[in-house]
Amino acid sequence: MNILVINCGSSSLKYQLINMNEEKVYAKGLCERIGIDGSRLKHTPSGKDTIIIEAPMPNHKEAVKMVLDALTHEEYGVVKSMDEISAVGHRVVHGGESFSESVIIDEEVKKAIEACSELAPLHNPPNLIGIEACQHLMPNTPMVAVFDTAFHQTMPNYAYLYAIPYELYEKHKIRRYGFHGTSHKYVAYRAAELLGKPIEELKIVTCHLGNGASVCAVKNGKSVDTSMGFTPLAGLVMGTRCGDIDPAIVTYLQDKENLSAQEVDNLLNKKSGVLGLSGISSDFRDIEDAVKEGNEKAAVTMDVFNYIVAKYVGAYAAAMNGLDAIVFTAGLGENNHEVRRDVCKYLEFLGVKIDEEKNQCRGVERDFSAEGAKIRTLVIPTNEELMIARETKNLLKK
Ligand code: ADP
Repeated sequence: MNILVINCGSSSLKYQLINMNEEKVYAKGLCERIGIDGSRLKHTPSGKDTIIIEAPMPNHKEAVKMVLDALTHEEYGVVKSMDEISAVGHRVVHGGESFSESVIIDEEVKKAIEACSELAPLHNPPNLIGIEACQHLMPNTPMVAVFDTAFHQTMPNYAYLYAIPYELYEKHKIRRYGFHGTSHKYVAYRAAELLGKPIEELKIVTCHLGNGASVCAVKNGKSVDTSMGFTPLAGLVMGTRCGDIDPAIVTYLQDKENLSAQEVDNLLNKKSGVLGLSGISSDFRDIEDAVKEGNEKAAVTMDVFNYIVAKYVGAYAAAMNGLDAIVFTAGLGENNHEVRRDVCKYLEFLGVKIDEEKNQCRGVERDFSAEGAKIRTLVIPTNEELMIARETKNLLKK
């Protein structure tokens, strides 16, 4: 069984074709600049060179068509025909309170995804466009929606409610939703496998530390709290997002800097975080380099980042009344041993103890706890595409 995984953005479309019998990626790629001049498709069949096809992609339908042509191409294709694609799994960012798990897409599901667009105006509309483009070209192929928010729908109300007038929750659905759910779920379940224990018996904190970053408390296999909130702006310090700040800063800034609501939103989402604080870059690699050159702002930026990650892990140990394992994933979590070391240092009082040598790794699965550590620490590369393909396969079986 081959499953096509689609992650559709406003001007881009990422895909992977995964063979689910062996969970092997047959091909992956990316359409860039959809609807803009200079659009192109980068297609990589597994184990072969990347092919770049430059051709106009005025819309997503054209992009999907090019992807399907590439996948079935005589020379660089990986399947003979579209009939060999059993289903399509679509990443959808926001499922609101409507979706607590993945679903097979029908007209009603599409309406519900559209209704959630108000909560994710930049993401849900292109996700829906991707679904419709695929449906148009593959009318008989089942489609599944896998939501970034779904895994967190198990949070108890005291974790997802904000202390603002309750009617605003009812009227505008203002509450914590959380994101990165597919990644948190994947690494939490994988951690249980690696630890050789049923997930139903584990209390795990998963740290997805990438350009966007969030922490999740996974108790007995269910998300019970997460650091992102109503939007992905909340929680940790991120590449360009501020994370948690005093909400009064918003109106203070509007007043003092004479900014509109939109301008403050832009400032906190695009110009803050690691970029804003360091004044150097939103990429942690640049910050690391600057730290090595003795740049003090870069050093304090890393300190602020590590501190808030550790604070969340500590808070979630309290939220779960215990902690068995901490998992690090995504760009920084998988690759930056210094961040892992510095975060873990704060948590030694809980029973975290790392093996410095084992921690010297990049992009591999590894338990880097010291012998006898009460709380295990693991690196697990995330694999959202595989998780989406698995969810799609499971729904087809039902
Ligand atoms: P996103 O998917 O949210 O864009 P990623 O998970 O790719 O983000 O993470 C991006 C961040 O991870 C960047 O800030 C980058 O510096 C860091 N990162 C990615 N790869 C490496 C690496 N090989 N070594 C160190 N840091 C890395």
